[in-house]
Parts: sequence; C-alpha cells; structure tokens
Amino acid sequence: MSLNAATPEFVRTLTNQIGEGVISPPTPAYLEEPRHRYTGIGGCLARPRNTGEVAAIVRLCNDNKVGIVPYGGGTGLVSGQIMEHGPAPVILSLERMDAIRDVDAADNILIAEAGAILANIQLAAADANRLFPLSLASEGSCRIGGNLSTNAGGVNVLRYGNARDLCLGVEAVLPDGSILSGLERLRKNNTGYDLRHLLIGAEGTLGIITAAALKLSPRPVEVETAFATVPNPQAALDLLNHLRDDLGDLISAFELIDLNGILFMEETGVDHTYPLAEKSKWQVLVECGGGVDARLKARLEHALHAAAERELILDAVIAQSEGQRKSLWQIREHIPIGNRKIGSVVSHDISVPVSRVPAFIEAARPLIEAIDPDLRINSFGHLGDGNLHYNIFPPMGRNRGDYDNAAKEVKKTIHDLVAQFGGSFSAEHGVGRAKVGDLQTYGDPTKLAAMRAIKAALDPNGIMNPGAVV
Ligand SMILES: Cc1cc2nc3c(=O)[nH]c(=O)nc-3n(C[C@H](O)[C@H](O)[C@H](O)COP(=O)(O)OP(=O)(O)OC[C@H]3O[C@@H](n4cnc5c(N)ncnc54)[C@H](O)[C@@H]3O)c2cc1C
Repeated sequence: MSLNAATPEFVRTLTNQIGEGVISPPTPAYLEEPRHRYTGIGGCLARPRNTGEVAAIVRLCNDNKVGIVPYGGGTGLVSGQIMEHGPAPVILSLERMDAIRDVDAADNILIAEAGAILANIQLAAADANRLFPLSLASEGSCRIGGNLSTNAGGVNVLRYGNARDLCLGVEAVLPDGSILSGLERLRKNNTGYDLRHLLIGAEGTLGIITAAALKLSPRPVEVETAFATVPNPQAALDLLNHLRDDLGDLISAFELIDLNGILFMEETGVDHTYPLAEKSKWQVLVECGGGVDARLKARLEHALHAAAERELILDAVIAQSEGQRKSLWQIREHIPIGNRKIGSVVSHDISVPVSRVPAFIEAARPLIEAIDPDLRINSFGHLGDGNLHYNIFPPMGRNRGDYDNAAKEVKKTIHDLVAQFGGSFSAEHGVGRAKVGDLQTYGDPTKLAAMRAIKAALDPNGIMNPGAVV
C-alpha cells in the first residue's frame, strides 16, 4: 500500500476544515517519546475538538491516502505513537477531547472522552465515591484513549484486570471516517462481534477511539500497604499465595523489586526512602483494600507474622500513614527514573505463567552472564501477573552505547527463553513499531494472518498508524 505525504497543500485543506486545531510543522514534543529512542516525522499535528472533527480528518486522510498516527499522552514505550520513516503522516492528538461526559454511581459507569488524562478519571470516580482502578506510573500524562489502545496493565491488574477488563464500550472513528457509537452501559450484550475488543489493544491500527464507557468499582474504605524483604523470588511467590489464602481477592498489587533498582536510584540520586534496616536482593510491595469490616491491618499483620515463621519474609513494614504509604510506592514508581538515568542496554516487558517466574529468573541470569558477566540485571514488576520488566544495564562507569553489539544477542536470548516458558515478549506495552519483528518471529502464524485480514478489511488503504503492529 503506498501512502502520500501530508503536503502543505493537504494541510491547507485540512486547516480549512479544522481551523486552528491544525499546527504545521508539528510541535517537536509530539515527535519524541519517553526514552528518547525514536524521533518521529509528521506533516502536521491535528487536534480535533469533537468526534465529528475526528471523522472529518480521517475521511480526508482516507480520500487522499495520507497516514494518521493517533496520539494520546505520548507515554507509550514501543514507538506506537512515533512514526520515524515513510511519507509524513498527520499526527492526530486527542488532547482537546478530554471531557468526562458522565459519572453514574448507580450504574457504576464513567463516560470519558479519549483525551481525558487517566489521573483525572481516577479523581472523577473518587468524587462519586467510586474507584477507577487502572493505575500506572505515567497516569499523570497518559490518556484513556492511549490506555485502551495499548490495553494498559499497571499495578492493579491482579485484582481488577487490565484496561480491556475495565471498558464496557467505545465510541470510535473507523478508517473510512464512519463513527462507531458503542458507548454501552450494559454489562451483558451478546449481539455479534464485540468490536470494542478489536479496537482495544489495536494501538491505533484499526481506528481512533474517541470516547469510552468505563467500569467503576466500590472504593475501598481501608487500604493497607506493606513492604517486605524476601529471600528469593520463589519465596516472594509463596508469600503471594500465602497472603491470598487469608486475604483472597482483597490484594490489589504485588510488586517484585530487585535490589539493583534501588541501587540505581542511589547511584543516580533519585529521591526515595528505603524503609527497612537491611536491604535484600529481593523485596516486595503489597497492597490490599477492603470494605468497612475487612479489619485489613490486623489480618495483614497476622499473615506477615505467619509468613516470617515460614521464612518467606526476612523483614517487613506496614505503612502507618498515607505519607508512609506514598513513600513505599515512591520506591516502586521511581525505579523507572533510575533506570532511565543509567540507560538500559535493552529492556524487556515480558510475561510468563505466574508460577514460572522464579524459574525464569533463575534460568535467565546465567544466559546473560554468558553474553557478558559485567552486565547488570534489574528484574522487577508485577509478579502477581507474571509480568517482569527484565532490563539489562551496563556496568557502573560504562554507558549503553558500549554494548550495542551485545544488545541484539541479549534481546534474542531473553525472548527465546520467554517463548520456551510459554510467555509473551510484550506483556503490557504493546507491539508498536519497536516489536513488529518480534511479533513476526514469535507470533502464531494463524493469528498473524487473521490480524492482517482484519486490518485489510477495515483499513484497505492502510492509513491507520502505518508500520505499527501489522
Ligand atoms: C513511567 C512510565 C510508566 C509506565 N508504566 C506502565 C505500566 O505500568 N503498565 C503499562 O501498561 N504501561 C505503562 N507505561 C506505558 C504507557 O504509559 C502506556 O502504554 C499508556 O497506556 C499509553 O497511553 P498514552 O495516552 O500515553 O498513549 P500514546 O503513547 O500516546 O499512544 C500509545 C499507542 O496508542 C495509540 N493511541 C493513542 N491514543 C489513541 C486513540 N484515542 N485511539 C487509537 N489509538 C490511540 C497510539 O497511536 C500508540 O500506538 C508506562 C510508561 C511510562 C513512561
């Protein structure tokens, strides 16, 4: 499929339709991404104010075979929102469509436009005494359209599921400019193909999500957060199961933290307070939430004592105030900042069956050491979901550029191992442009053929996010 560039003439026509919502050339910030690994191109930036304007832009692009790169908060980590090569596309930002259209506490539903920032959705739900549980470190910048398009995960998947599980319906503009009005308020609706699930996780390749109906949950009355050192990843996993025996589904987060993540923060001066007297190679952060009579603190304390007797934990602390709780979470949330300051040789966002995480960590280390014993591993993440950010760093005093040759071998080694463990090379960040090759290598051929057929049927001109995913 050959596409045309968004030429100055095309941009003039677009401007006649959308007015001051079109900026050419695009503001440089829209051509960068969080890790500064890719630099984008674009003929213009279009910032529509409503779904009708989105439809008009898409129709014009489709008629002229001009590519569109949908843009949410720009926090994606796989270059889905950044197109580096090809005819200059229109970058379509949803930022001016950020209204919360409705919060309905009786139906437990919130309707938000795609450009609504995740943190603002959480606040709007809290104002109605409800919880919107999707929570990621980027929640102050990412937008719900981007979250749904990447089927974002985050720290509460263990209890509430990922973005897909929190969405009842979407409104979207399809590649021919038609509007899909699917803002369902229904919990049950078995009437044919569920197009919501096709658009969620499609990373902008099948259309543009313009609004979503989101599922709200009861707001926990009591939230308890603990930080514990553990002897090894198997003990961490046993601790999770031990806590679940007592607290069941009240556990919302269970994060594994590698000592290297903490040492990297120390090395680069990233703000954090380590809460225990002695550090361990492995630590976990646990959070649970419950209703009025949950007696969570007493139950968590009791369960942690019993875990210590079983030698599943070395030491632990339960936050005694909201300030302490935030300080514990700061450790987990600031790890990516330390990582970025050191600069990873290669990062992986992988998942394996939960029960196999310890064996995976055990198997991966010698393989990395065999490539270069000086490389440093920071393996952390959402243990309760079997999802690890398995990231490899240069030794102290060296930088990642010195390891360009090793990077490819490391990545292939880890992704091959993940495949052997029945896992995924992209647990929560998506495919974007960065992992298109991995999808070809590790994806099921039948699934890939079906994906291409769907793409060709809905987007025959290939205008939607060219070069991403398929
Ligand atoms: C510090 C940090 C922590 C992170 N933690 C997590 C985490 O814990 N879990 C996790 O899953 N991710 C995480 N991420 C990745 C990122 O925040 C998520 O992928 C997020 O969902 C992207 O949302 P966004 O609005 O920034 O989307 P963007 O980056 O703008 O876009 C992402 C993709 O979605 C497409 N897109 C955007 N909006 C639309 C739309 N309205 N319609 C159709 N397509 C669209 C884009 O074209 C692109 O392909 C993290 C990122 C950072 C920087």
